[in-house]
Amino acid sequence: MITKSDIRELANFHSPEGCAVTFYYQPTTPPNRSHREGTILLKDRVNNALREAERKGSNHKQARRDLERILEMTDELRGDGRRAKAIFACASKGVWREFDLPPMLHRTNLILNQRFHLKPLAAVFDGIQHACVALVDRSKARVFEISGGMIVEKLDFINELTRRGRSDGFGGYDAGHAERRVMNEAMQHYKVVSDAIAGHFQSGGCEKLVVGCHDDVWSEFEPHLHRYARQRLVGRFRIDAKTANEREVHDAAMEILQANDDGRKQEMITEVIGEAHRNGRGAIGLRRVLRSIEAGEVQTLMIASSFNAPGVKCYHCGHMDYHIAPDCVMCGKPNTELEDLGDAIVGHAVRHGLELVYIGDDEQFDKIGRIAALLRFRADQSTPAKVAV
Ligand SMILES: [Zn+2]
Repeated sequence: MITKSDIRELANFHSPEGCAVTFYYQPTTPPNRSHREGTILLKDRVNNALREAERKGSNHKQARRDLERILEMTDELRGDGRRAKAIFACASKGVWREFDLPPMLHRTNLILNQRFHLKPLAAVFDGIQHACVALVDRSKARVFEISGGMIVEKLDFINELTRRGRSDGFGGYDAGHAERRVMNEAMQHYKVVSDAIAGHFQSGGCEKLVVGCHDDVWSEFEPHLHRYARQRLVGRFRIDAKTANEREVHDAAMEILQANDDGRKQEMITEVIGEAHRNGRGAIGLRRVLRSIEAGEVQTLMIASSFNAPGVKCYHCGHMDYHIAPDCVMCGKPNTELEDLGDAIVGHAVRHGLELVYIGDDEQFDKIGRIAALLRFRADQSTPAKVAV
C-alpha cells in the first residue's frame, strides 16, 4: 500500500534529461476491447512516448528500457482486470517503483518528463480511507481495519466474565444484584475494548474511528472511549456485533466515512470562497493560486480531480505559468510545456508539504475554476508597517 512518504519521495525525484517515466494503468470495466486491441493501444502509447522523447531531444535510449519493460507487463496487467497500477521509472537513475491501486484512475496514461506525474496517484491516495471500525455490545467486541476498499477483522473478543456467570440468581430474589453485576462486568468489558481500540490506533495506520453498536450500548460505551480515539471518531451505525458479516460492516462504515469526507470538503469549499470574497485567506482560480504558491502563502491546496489546464514550467527557477511562452518570464531560461499544470502544482504541493485536498464533481467548485487554496497568510497584507500600527 502506498504511503505519504512514497509520494513525497517520488515528488522530489528530478531527471534533467527528461527520462522520468510515469505510467498509469486503469482497467476498463467491463473489458470493452479484446485483449489484442488493448495491447496494441498500450504499444501505441509507448511508441508515442518514445517519439515525443526524441522530439524533445532527451536521452530516450534510457527511457526506452523502462518503456519496453512496461510493454512486457501489458499481458499481466490486462489479466487482472480489478486492479489499477502506477509505475514510476527512470532506468538511468535506477528507479523503478510499482504500486497496485484501487481502480479509481481517470484513464490509462503514459508520460515522459523531468518529473513524475503525481496528480492521479495523490488523488487515489486522498480517496483511500484508513479507518478502524469497532463493533461493541455488552459481552463482545470486534475490531476491523478498512483500507483501500478492503476490510480485515483484527480483533475479536468475548467478555469472559459474563460468559462464566449465567447460573446464579433466579426468580426475583437475586434479580437486582444479578443485574448490577452484569452492568459492572459490561463496564469492565467496555474498558478492555476501549484499551484495545487505543492500542490499535497507537500501532498506526488508522486515522478515523467508526463504531457499530445498538443505541443502549452506545450510551454505556461512549464514556469509556479514550480521548485520542474520541477525537478520531467520525460516526456510529446500528449493527449487531455478534452476527454482522464483513461486507455489512464495510458498507455501513464506508457510508459514514464518505459522508464525513464529503461534509469536510463542502465546508472547505464554502470557507475558501468566503475568504477569497472578503479578500482574506483564500485564493480561487488558477491565476490567484499560482500567485499564492509562488508567494509561499498556501496552507491547503484544493484541486478537482477533473482539473486540467495546459501550461509551462521552468525547471530552472520553478516558475509555473498558464501563458504558453518559450521562455520563463521570471528568469529567461527555456520553459517546458506541460499537458496539465495540475501535475506540476500537485508535485510542488507534495514537495513543500502543503496539505492536498481533492474535490470530486462539485458545481460550485467548477465555477471557481476547479482549483483553490486556503492560505497561511497574505503576503500583501502582512507588511511590518501594518503590524506596527
Ligand atoms: Zn525561470
